[in-house]
Amino acid sequence: MNALDVDQIIEQPTIVIVGGGIVGLTAALLLKSLGQVTVLDKGGLSPKPLHVADRVLAINHASVQLFKTIGVWSDIQMHARAYDLMQVCDDQSGGQITFDAKVLKIPNLGYFVSQQVIVNALLKRIGQTKAITCYPHTVCEAIERQLRAITVRTSQHSLTANLLVGSDGAHSTLRDLLGFPTDRYKYTQQALTTTIEVESSCQTMAWQKFMEDGTLACLPIDKGNRYGIVWTALPERLQTWQAWSAPAFARLLQSYTDGWLKQVQVISPRLLYPLQFVHARSYIQAHAVLIGDAMHTTHPLAGLGLNVGLLDVASLYTVCRAAQQQHQPFYERLILRRYERQRKANVVKFLMMIEALNYGGTATGWGLQLGRYAGLQMCDRVTCIKRYVARYALGGEFCYDIQS
Ligand SMILES: Cc1cc2nc3c(=O)[nH]c(=O)nc-3n(C[C@H](O)[C@H](O)[C@H](O)COP(=O)(O)OP(=O)(O)OC[C@H]3O[C@@H](n4cnc5c(N)ncnc54)[C@H](O)[C@@H]3O)c2cc1C
Repeated sequence: MNALDVDQIIEQPTIVIVGGGIVGLTAALLLKSLGQVTVLDKGGLSPKPLHVADRVLAINHASVQLFKTIGVWSDIQMHARAYDLMQVCDDQSGGQITFDAKVLKIPNLGYFVSQQVIVNALLKRIGQTKAITCYPHTVCEAIERQLRAITVRTSQHSLTANLLVGSDGAHSTLRDLLGFPTDRYKYTQQALTTTIEVESSCQTMAWQKFMEDGTLACLPIDKGNRYGIVWTALPERLQTWQAWSAPAFARLLQSYTDGWLKQVQVISPRLLYPLQFVHARSYIQAHAVLIGDAMHTTHPLAGLGLNVGLLDVASLYTVCRAAQQQHQPFYERLILRRYERQRKANVVKFLMMIEALNYGGTATGWGLQLGRYAGLQMCDRVTCIKRYVARYALGGEFCYDIQS
């Protein structure tokens, strides 16, 4: 039987999404125009009150475009902080580079917003949408394959899907149940996040420092003079600092930010995250695809993991919609291969760039330090290089036609 036989096309295909994080929920809101969508998640799938300790995420222009397309941007924007300056410095060599939206002739470099704000906006939109059914507190326990579909078994349900989407994060159960070969390892670093308030600040500037064992980022957020802190370092150091009193940690932070932040007050608990690298060697099977952290997880130093996961969603939707418009079954392997081809080169390039930055940005030795200093100073002076780097980080390299 020809896999693309038009006689076999199902009028109302069913799409089951395992994992309702930001990537899975965004996929649900885009893919709903292709068929009936069900989202299942081990969590509650209900909006939560915002908390000062919520993790802050950098959102680039491509992600904003996607959120506009699915009608959630206005809810997110209310709590988002646009930034127009980004300063990156190297502690060991003293080199630094500044990205300035004005010089790059763009309105801003992106936004910082809490993860919970985005999740709440997506869940609100899904609540208004009949074509999406949510199963909270539900875990996928087994998978069965049929000739033209795939069945997901949970403790309460048996759901047959024409397309099964795995968006259940770095520790994806679905990826393992489907037997996707995957490369993974733990980074030697962990991440500590917290929220601080300062006396006064340049509230549209983000600041990041590369140090011997990790990076320290200060990201302006919505209210007053607040910053989200993301500090990656060796676990022993972070665990010690986590146990310190808030004033002692505030003094430490002030000293590490070279006095740039004044009168620091730590206003939320300090949370630790283990960091891992995950990359599935293939992204698709017949009737099944991976997206987001389930497909690729990396070090958060460039604040791009979610943004790249959202590009997976845009790419998957674009490929599937084009197939459906040509009366082809978008859930067949031959079609899904187009998604895999489209994403693989970009994802591999992204992962290699992060590995190079993590290794090159923290490595010691005078040769590397000198190279870093020269590289940063040169990039800082040559606008076209900066424009290229900024364009990549803003997601501009990937322009999808994503009308839903
Ligand atoms: C400290 C830190 C800072 C970061 N900062 C940034 C940033 O500034 N910008 C950026 O772009 N990225 C950032 N990232 C990366 C970003 O957080 C992730 O890439 C993004 O959250 C991945 O989203 P996801 O929806 O794919 O996965 P997840 O957010 O992990 O969501 C997975 C969902 O699946 C559910 N689930 C898990 N297992 C199961 C199961 N077995 N059955 C059913 N459901 C299941 C979970 O409950 C969850 O809802 C950062 C990461 C870290 C650790």
